[in-house]
Amino acid sequence: MPPELDSLLFGEIDPPQRLLMGPGPINAHPRVLRAMSADLLGQFDPEMTGFMNQIMALYRPIFGTQNQWTMLIDGTARAGIEAALVSMVAPGDTVLVVNFGRFGLLLTEILTRIGARIETVDVPWGEVVPMETIAAAIERTSPRLVATIHGDTSTTMAQPLEGLGDLCKAAGALSYVDATATIGGMELAADRWGVDVVSGGLQKCLGGPSGSAPITISDRAAEHIFSRRHTEAGIRMDGLSDGKGPRIGSNYFDLAMIMDYWSEKRLNHHTEATSMLYAARECARVALGEGLKARFARHASAGAAMTAGLRAMGLTVFGDDAHRMTNVTGVYIPNSVDGEAVRKAMRELFEIEIGTAFGPLQGKIWRLGAMGYNAMKHKVLLTLAALEACLRMEGYALPMGEAVPAAIEAWG
Ligand SMILES: *Cc1c(COP(=O)(O)O)cnc(C)c1O
Repeated sequence: MPPELDSLLFGEIDPPQRLLMGPGPINAHPRVLRAMSADLLGQFDPEMTGFMNQIMALYRPIFGTQNQWTMLIDGTARAGIEAALVSMVAPGDTVLVVNFGRFGLLLTEILTRIGARIETVDVPWGEVVPMETIAAAIERTSPRLVATIHGDTSTTMAQPLEGLGDLCKAAGALSYVDATATIGGMELAADRWGVDVVSGGLQKCLGGPSGSAPITISDRAAEHIFSRRHTEAGIRMDGLSDGKGPRIGSNYFDLAMIMDYWSEKRLNHHTEATSMLYAARECARVALGEGLKARFARHASAGAAMTAGLRAMGLTVFGDDAHRMTNVTGVYIPNSVDGEAVRKAMRELFEIEIGTAFGPLQGKIWRLGAMGYNAMKHKVLLTLAALEACLRMEGYALPMGEAVPAAIEAWG
């Protein structure tokens, strides 16, 4: 081989064995990585369409739904968000965004591109929005859609959603929830909440890699989405509208076309990302095999242990205790400490990654996650012990040796 090409080969992928204890991504479960190395199939192979049907069945309990339309959008979690919004919202529609962090801002950003009329209810980062405030905003704005986040990793807060669906239905509005950060780690109850569309991702509590976005769609929402479809078959190769209504402004994220692909019609749309589908399938099998209740309890134990350990070090945990997500914990960086130097020491000495923060919290808090395959006692304890050592090295005086026993006790 010519020497100039030889230097282009870089060497086989051999990343460090880093423990990812930030707000996501996390280390994937080994079973998920193994599933991803399985052989590929053709798009309409009965084995492949059989796997697609299994995905629909596996993800219904994970979303807490009986919705027929429960499937995958190919792409990271944001692909699910964008597919939901672009397929439900036409230019000029009023959308109410319940905003309590960075991912609420992402909803408004996507809706701006769609040309929606955006109304928001906002609270300071670290709080959630009371249901009465949402009710009053729905009353005031008569939205076509109410969109919000379940757990916003930017603030570590989980928005209560009980009763949201009834409020929306009474007002003739559809509802959308981004549950990327909580799916597989905290209870999702799409049907009990009465919300129409919920989407997620694999790289948080489901213990997979990013790149597939599970989504569930109520019949009511599906009917609305299909009503925006511009031809019976859902495909017009000439790209022209037949005037049947406002077109969905994206081909890749056109949920009507994607539903036709996941239905028994099997109308060709994209080429399903086979290895990601295997990953999503194994994530769900791992989660359901453990039992969802046991899995939520494990995440709650990990969060309680992390919080107790941080407090035992004398640190201040961020945000309102009553609404904290169980799987990500924010903690204030002590004033005298260089937050980035601690993160660097954690990475270089212990091969542990913890998270920074965005926007108003940038430089003020770290975010420590314990999700999916990483919501384990030994990984939480290692992280706390390493953080204690790194803080000490940065010259921060703290009670040594307190964090680990406090965490063990709080695990329960
Ligand atoms: C992590 C996260 C995402 C991530 O989206 P990607 O496109 O997968 O990066 C989206 N929404 C929320 C609430 C998240 O916490």
